Amino acid sequence: MFGIKADWSLDIQERYFTLDDYEGNEARWCSGCGDHAVLATTHRILRDAQLPPEKSVFVSGIGCSSRMPHYMATYGLHGLHGRALPLACGVKSRRPDLDVWVATGDGDCFSIGAGPWVHAIRYNMNMTVLVFDNQIYGLTKKQTSPTSPINLPTNTHPEGASLDMLNPNTVTLGITNASFVAQVVDWNPPLLHETLKAAHAHKGTSFVRIIQRCPVFVDGITKALQEDSSRLLLLTHENGIPVAPGVDRLFPESREHDPSNMAEALEIARDETTKDIIPVGLLYQNSDIPCYDELSSQGHNTTDAKKIAATHAALDTFAI
Ligand code: SF4
Repeated sequence: MFGIKADWSLDIQERYFTLDDYEGNEARWCSGCGDHAVLATTHRILRDAQLPPEKSVFVSGIGCSSRMPHYMATYGLHGLHGRALPLACGVKSRRPDLDVWVATGDGDCFSIGAGPWVHAIRYNMNMTVLVFDNQIYGLTKKQTSPTSPINLPTNTHPEGASLDMLNPNTVTLGITNASFVAQVVDWNPPLLHETLKAAHAHKGTSFVRIIQRCPVFVDGITKALQEDSSRLLLLTHENGIPVAPGVDRLFPESREHDPSNMAEALEIARDETTKDIIPVGLLYQNSDIPCYDELSSQGHNTTDAKKIAATHAALDTFAI
């Protein structure tokens, strides 16, 4: 009519997500905190992959970094201390169609959450685990965490932490079914982006330890690393994390490392403790390890009638 061509179709138009679609509440982390960099990078990765916000879930425990679900406009679950991983495994096992991310910290994951950490790595469910490691308990105001360096004065050890730090990468690599282990620093945006992107693309549990700035309580730790980048060892390989042209110049020290080589990965990870050389890049990847969410999702479509019949059959076992 009148030459106007109207589209009366009821088809849902294809959506294009912008960064706004992923941004939740305004982040309340301290100014200069490395968590801001990880959050911004994650928003971009979701946007680039065009992941529907309603199909993405961010699960966390307790700590500064565990506020991340509040800053995502996706589904989210801010859980209990040390319990981010079992909650995420629960979500994934019942809803394997969802894209599951975990935000946890060094205290949350490596201390009170150490048991769940081991089992989550073994389950190898398809999820991306971001460990924000600032080497201190920040939310509760500067207590020694498992990764605090020895001799670091803290509010629980005013004379200095008395034990050598736990090495999260050697532990993770030592767990049965570890399938993706990477390490990165929060202050190199291109490398952070490529690392999280590769972690998200991996099928299985991708464990990424992010060495994170906490300028309020342990400014010296990461400042020393930024000022002396020769302590960082960039891992390069065609199957590793892609390094954009020019980024490699920021790392005076680098070595070729095949991420399928577990023995070499362990040796490199161990050097962080024994030689104070901090690897950045992909330590290990094996995409052939079974994912427990796929195994445990068998029977998801069982009807109510079948479930009731199975319950009766089980109870009949005890009939006298
Ligand atoms: Fe970040 Fe440290 Fe502030 Fe926590 S206390 S928000 S880790 S800078």
